[in-house]
Amino acid sequence: MRELLINGVRVRPGQSVNIEIPIAKLPSHTLIDLPIFIRRAQEEGPVVLISGGVHGDEINGIVTARRLLEEMDQGWSLLRGTLIFIPLMNIYGFLSNSRTFPDGRDLNRSFPGSKKGSLASRIAFIINEEIIPQIDYGIDFHTGGRMLSNHPQVRVDFKDKVGLDLAKSFCTHFIVNSRHIEKSFRKTAFKARKHILVYEGGESMRVDDFAIEEGVQGTKRLLHSLGMLGNSTKAQESTILKESDWVRAKASGIFNSSVKLGESVKKGQIMAEISDPYGQVKIEVKSPTNGHVIGINNLPVINVGDALVHIGKE
Ligand SMILES: [Zn+2]
Repeated sequence: MRELLINGVRVRPGQSVNIEIPIAKLPSHTLIDLPIFIRRAQEEGPVVLISGGVHGDEINGIVTARRLLEEMDQGWSLLRGTLIFIPLMNIYGFLSNSRTFPDGRDLNRSFPGSKKGSLASRIAFIINEEIIPQIDYGIDFHTGGRMLSNHPQVRVDFKDKVGLDLAKSFCTHFIVNSRHIEKSFRKTAFKARKHILVYEGGESMRVDDFAIEEGVQGTKRLLHSLGMLGNSTKAQESTILKESDWVRAKASGIFNSSVKLGESVKKGQIMAEISDPYGQVKIEVKSPTNGHVIGINNLPVINVGDALVHIGKE
């Protein structure tokens, strides 16, 4: 029987255990800890991490992970294996409506972390020591940045064949090829031969029911394909996107898009207009390629070079 030991707590088959790993104190001396929820079936099977809030302002991801935990506790019968839920990884960012830590560090660029490093690096260290060795797979829930909204998509490095198969079993709208980034959670896990999918849906600081629902249903489909859940919603077709690029603003001004998330576009198609505040200048934004709109900027006032529309190519 596989040993499951997190922060010195042993979790046996059939057990549900909640643990809190102390992180540090706020300047007010309020204790901050990292809550982790472990649900283990009687039968041996894969260990899957469901995480959110690596970026503290990506509320949608936190809500998605929480909803999955709620559904688990309200009646899923886990057929085999173990689920580990960490709905909120970056508590500091969450408290301050920020992607990062108070010193500006990004948890997702702080792996594998260190015991005596920055706050972000200490949390990365705990995840690297206590969680990554325990898991086989993971789904890490993210959103677009400030005012940048993403259509539901799973990001995986297509060189990771196991990860790509997992992404296909999740089968949300898009599967996007996304190379591993140095010091990221996903890359660090991959070095330990663990496969983490990054789910992107909605934007930071907004709760987006559509993106949450897609994240929940996709996770159920993935767990079903691993033999951990009996039923799941019907599979839908995913569009596989080998590459993706942002179309950037050729001029500053007021950005007004005429395409919507999830739409497909043709090369040369007008996707948006950039205008000045006085009606003197109007510039068309055209798609450089045939593709799909997987992300869009919702901020109307833009500077030259700003990311406008994220296009994925099949
Ligand atoms: Zn993120």
